[in-house]
Amino acid sequence: MSTLHEHDGMICRACGKEERASEGYPCAGCGTFICLVCTFRGVTHCKACAEKQPPPSPST
Ligand SMILES: [Zn+2]
Ligand SMILES: [Zn+2]
Repeated sequence: MSTLHEHDGMICRACGKEERASEGYPCAGCGTFICLVCTFRGVTHCKACAEKQPPPSPST
């Protein structure tokens, strides 16, 4: 079986957009797909993981 239209899109679990899977990174928590745009913004966890693990409070 061959696919005429190559489609490697995956839904980013951080922003919800469909981006190329080959250009994304896995969530640091669960390994689900996070797109390159979110990665550039410093997002390392998907929404679900981000809610489970709130960012560490600044120690001053
Ligand atoms: Zn994203
Ligand atoms: Zn995750």
